Amino acid sequence: MNIQPPKPAATPAIARDAVELQAHVATWRSAGQSIGLVPTMGALHDGHLSLIRAIKGEADRVVVSIFVNPTQFGPGEDFKTYPRDTEADLGKITAAGGDLVYLPGLGDMYPDGVTSDISAGPLGDVMCGASRPGHFDGVASVVARLLRQCLPDVAIFGEKDYQQLLVIRHMTATLNLPVRIIAAPILRQPDGLALSSRNRYLSAEDRVSAAALSATLRDLAARAGTPASNDGASLRALEAEGRQRLLDAGFTRVDYLDFRDGNRLERAEQASGDTRVFAAAVIGGARLIDNMAVTA
Ligand code: AMP
Repeated sequence: MNIQPPKPAATPAIARDAVELQAHVATWRSAGQSIGLVPTMGALHDGHLSLIRAIKGEADRVVVSIFVNPTQFGPGEDFKTYPRDTEADLGKITAAGGDLVYLPGLGDMYPDGVTSDISAGPLGDVMCGASRPGHFDGVASVVARLLRQCLPDVAIFGEKDYQQLLVIRHMTATLNLPVRIIAAPILRQPDGLALSSRNRYLSAEDRVSAAALSATLRDLAARAGTPASNDGASLRALEAEGRQRLLDAGFTRVDYLDFRDGNRLERAEQASGDTRVFAAAVIGGARLIDNMAVTA
């Protein structure tokens, strides 16, 4: 019997700066292949991997970028301690079918200094933008760079960061970037908690309590769609109830819990097909966000 040694797991190609990235992209383009980009900050979980799998149906080649972007972190936030695990990420990207991992350095992204130079506009002022001033300018600035460096046909973003998705759609339209932005649904744990790199900050006890976030939003989204709750006063009452439920469950701060429309993020005065409920709240060492469409 001819026993073969196990094959080493294939690793995807790595580009460490924009020149290397563009060389790969040029080779693929000359072969007539289309390019998809999955921007991430690494510490990959199944939510990120679902983005890689989804974009494979939209493009011949998939680039996954990993860059922990300092300009989207505020003073006192977790930039320094944000989880970094590039070795493990490479294996996961290979298994999910990514072709190239882009690992730019700070100087590649911000050669003229680490500051945001693209405004997210009014979409970046509400919700997470109100509690994290400048956050979405940082997101817009880094994603614009990634898109210009890679020039993909399509880029994918998770609805987990729904406000970010809208900011990026707006930014690409304003800058006339020739890229199609697509969205992926939120991947959740069995108890409903949305997967997030920051979930690892939760203690075992807080991890159990954290399920109250998705459970509360699910309940409020269902009730907001019923005729009895479908006016501004009722929606405000549901928001207040939801905030209290999170505090009762062990969250220590609720930054917001709002019904808003899913395009312009304006406060909803009645629920329609576009309405979503959005929340950000702190439990233990983690600030968690989640959102859901109103279901009725
Ligand atoms: P991050 O690494 O946190 O910047 O996330 C990179 C991308 O993965 C963003 O487009 C996120 O919206 C997306 N993402 C993060 N968590 C999830 C999730 N649980 N389900 C789907 N997409 C996600």
